[in-house]
Amino acid sequence: MSEQRFPSSVDIAIIGAGAAGLGAARALEGTGLSVLVLEARDRIGGRAYTKRVTPEIAFDVGCGWLHSADENSFVGIAEQLGIPIDRTDPPWGKPSYRDAFPPRDRAEFSEAIEDFYERVWRAAKKKADAPAATLLEAGNRWNPMIDAISTYVNGAELDRVSIHDVEAYRDTEINWRIRDGYGSLIAAYGAPCPVALNCAVELIDHSGARIRLVTSQGTLTASQVIITVPTNLIADEAIRFTPELPAKVESARGLPLGADDKVMLRLAGPHDFPADGNLRGAMMRTAMGTYHLRPFANDCIEGFFGGRFARELEDAGDGAFAAQAIDEIAELLGNDIRRQLSPLAESRWARDPYARGSYSHALPGHAGARAVLAAPVDDRLFFAGEATSPHFFSTAHGARDSGERAVKEAMANRGAKAASAPA
Ligand SMILES: Cc1cc2nc3c(=O)[nH]c(=O)nc-3n(C[C@H](O)[C@H](O)[C@H](O)COP(=O)(O)OP(=O)(O)OC[C@H]3O[C@@H](n4cnc5c(N)ncnc54)[C@H](O)[C@@H]3O)c2cc1C
Repeated sequence: MSEQRFPSSVDIAIIGAGAAGLGAARALEGTGLSVLVLEARDRIGGRAYTKRVTPEIAFDVGCGWLHSADENSFVGIAEQLGIPIDRTDPPWGKPSYRDAFPPRDRAEFSEAIEDFYERVWRAAKKKADAPAATLLEAGNRWNPMIDAISTYVNGAELDRVSIHDVEAYRDTEINWRIRDGYGSLIAAYGAPCPVALNCAVELIDHSGARIRLVTSQGTLTASQVIITVPTNLIADEAIRFTPELPAKVESARGLPLGADDKVMLRLAGPHDFPADGNLRGAMMRTAMGTYHLRPFANDCIEGFFGGRFARELEDAGDGAFAAQAIDEIAELLGNDIRRQLSPLAESRWARDPYARGSYSHALPGHAGARAVLAAPVDDRLFFAGEATSPHFFSTAHGARDSGERAVKEAMANRGAKAASAPA
């Protein structure tokens, strides 16, 4: 990454150096325009961040899976950068370790969740939206687990999730990974971008001929601005607009970031855990973790928590995810396992000031907010970020592609202006 001297003016300013902002900056290469990415953190990547927690273990604190890998633009990018892709099947499709989830139960659960998605598909054809929880079959014993899956996928329980939005999400069910971390891949992709770090944008004043950005490092002006910050920051008005943009604030409020968190545990001593195995923290309840055993055959276990339970554990303070994970694993495999497990790292995305959550889901009745948020304002302000993606929302590749889309919109406008300028 090329860290920039802070200029007083640029052609295009991009707010946020996550996958969307970096996607936009890369798409502007070679245009001859002056571009600067303004990033509040002291690093690029945003919700894509790999932490090396031991010499062997690269912990993806945010995104880890190249979802819909056959349509994921980061696959070609990894290939171009010479970064190897791991195509091992994900753990969630595999039987649970030591029959913690017996095959008969598993088959019953698979049928219940398939039936649920079939009902979502039918209901989404109707014009009226509703909470996806209304499609749970009364009395079905698998409902709490279907809800748990929603907390992993949407960051929220089904009562908070729009049926239309669930149906709009595109998943080709091909999921790959990067051994050195998805966050590392995105950092390598963003390395050539011109970025001002530690630069939080507070105000976007678009009342004048040029747009004025008030930041923690001073003020600069731009002719066009691409805004990629997470929806919760727009919803909370942590970043403000003059004149105000109530339609953007309202659409962002309809697309809150849910809560999802990860924990990485070291696994010591002798064991028979399979590489890339699967373990569920419990059955028949929503408040539970799900575990990836020995990712990349490393001696570790990665736990994943979502929804209200993840928020509760964040509120409980540092170490709460590790303690919960170790308790759940011991509940399933016996207390002796405790001696072999120790915490390495965990996330707290809902408490992260520049994310305030994990990824966006539409509240019931708000699936249309994605298009409202994505729409340009006066052909000068453009909006990108995972929440603006029509079908790959909540993902890193959806975010990156949205940055490219925003650049196309901005460039189309510059072209139109050039064409209509007097000779
Ligand atoms: C636990 C977890 C697991 C996930 N797993 C996956 C996965 O397996 N696969 C997948 O594809 N996706 C996954 N995701 C989602 C994925 O990480 C995000 O969708 C994607 O990274 C979002 O990119 P973005 O550019 O839209 O937003 P961000 O990455 O959030 O980028 C926005 C940037 O704006 C900056 N910013 C905020 N406020 C300001 C301000 N005022 N001024 C300047 N800068 C500001 C932020 O610091 C940030 O860098 C996961 C996310 C989490 C949290």
